Amino acid sequence: MLDVQNLRKAYDGLEVLKGISFSLKKGETKVLIGPSGSGKSTLLRCINYLTVPDAGCIKLNNAEVLDGNIDSMRAKMGFVFQDFNLFSHLTVLDNIRICQMKVKGKDKHSATERAHQELMRVGLADKSNAYPAELSGGQQQRVSIARALAMDPDVLLFDEPTSALDPELTGEVTRVMQQLAKDGMTMVVVTHEMNFARQAADEIIFMEHGNIVEQGSPESMFNESTHERTRAFLNVIA
Ligand code: ATP
Ligand code: MG
Repeated sequence: MLDVQNLRKAYDGLEVLKGISFSLKKGETKVLIGPSGSGKSTLLRCINYLTVPDAGCIKLNNAEVLDGNIDSMRAKMGFVFQDFNLFSHLTVLDNIRICQMKVKGKDKHSATERAHQELMRVGLADKSNAYPAELSGGQQQRVSIARALAMDPDVLLFDEPTSALDPELTGEVTRVMQQLAKDGMTMVVVTHEMNFARQAADEIIFMEHGNIVEQGSPESMFNESTHERTRAFLNVIA
């Protein structure tokens, strides 16, 4: 489904990604962890060319992302940001409709129907006419997830989706994400929420200084890691 091969990125001579490779099968959830500055956001952004990598290859469904139309490839990858990125001047319904209509060319009726369907899925069926400012952070993030889902993505990329939220709002977002994982959505999730990682990840990838140090199942990472750096990191955050 998603193949990342030998991805490299440097900023002003500083190597931020030093040859990252991993792959994701349909329906898999990978959780990406690592210290601040290790390159997690850069990796996610390079996957859909929000940031252009210096070298390496990204394939989605065996098609090289750069070979195709970048916009159509990007439309197959939903991105959920830490700070929600909703349009503040649009209602919840319009936030979810606009990309469907502009990018996918859907008519208003079918975009509306799909928006209501996804709002139901994230537990916000009654908020379609609200503006983002009238919602809690957790609700805004769920709208942002609904908006991504409405685009029928092949893979969803999450960059610390709960780190701007108070602890009591984090659960409502991770619960939605856990359900998505269960429903077979393919996802790459950067997060410090280790309960989510334990329960939803098929595999956890630990990154440091632009390299993948170790990857494995949650059980093996939490209980049997042989890497000093992984253990030290998990001891601090888990
Ligand atoms: P955090 O956990 O704090 O979000 P991260 O693992 O997501 O960290 P990145 O944001 O990918 O780390 O940053 C990796 C390195 O690349 C950092 O040293 C950062 O300063 C640098 N960097 C990121 N974006 C840019 C940019 N646009 N220009 C210059 N340097 C950048
Ligand atoms: Mg980051």
